[in-house]
Amino acid sequence: MPDYLFPPPAVRSLPVLGHTARFPISRIFCVGRNYAEHAAEMGSEVDRAAPFYFTKSLTAVAESPAQVPYPPGTYDYHHEVEFVVALGAPAFRITPEAAVATVLGYGCGLDMTRRDLQAKAKEKRRPWDIGKDVEGAAVLGPLTPAGDFGQVGPQAIELEVNGEHRQTGRLSGMVHSVPEIIADLSQYYHLVPGDLIMTGTPAGVGPVDVGDKLVGRVGGLASVELTILPPE
Ligand code: MN
Repeated sequence: MPDYLFPPPAVRSLPVLGHTARFPISRIFCVGRNYAEHAAEMGSEVDRAAPFYFTKSLTAVAESPAQVPYPPGTYDYHHEVEFVVALGAPAFRITPEAAVATVLGYGCGLDMTRRDLQAKAKEKRRPWDIGKDVEGAAVLGPLTPAGDFGQVGPQAIELEVNGEHRQTGRLSGMVHSVPEIIADLSQYYHLVPGDLIMTGTPAGVGPVDVGDKLVGRVGGLASVELTILPPE
């Protein structure tokens, strides 16, 4: 072991249902505008030719059930429920057909967003990082092995805030499918086991308040849960 000036960052990981070993997280890629109705509610159009991406740092990870303070610098913190893909094999310049075998499992996630800061960044043609790469803003539920989940298809994806329904969609509503996304990302990155992909959110995004309890669900997966604590 080399001698470090201060402790190196902790490994961030997720439980995998039915396994004792945890999934160590490498990178978090997020797909933008992958459901047509959500793109429309944001005043945008989907790009059917190819997906686009942003990323979140490991410091954004909060394991479900999470309790996260309302973050600094925003007055419009939004929920986005997402289907999360966990890679268990390397991938570089692969085809969608080959991409299926790289998936280790799936989970539910929340891509929490400082919407006001993201909107300002969009308006000024600046990066989205300050709106998206927020501490505690990648809330992730436990993973279910791909073989136990089966085919990605008409499963419902939904979000409740304090028991009220806010977001609804179906995984089949994704503009770019899971194999297409993995294959496309692999044209630009050497994907490795541990990489996560948040595949975009269906319509119905909106603001959260202190004290809100969020529950995100995808049919066949464990839920993701977040409680918003008072700001620090
Ligand atoms: Mn999102």
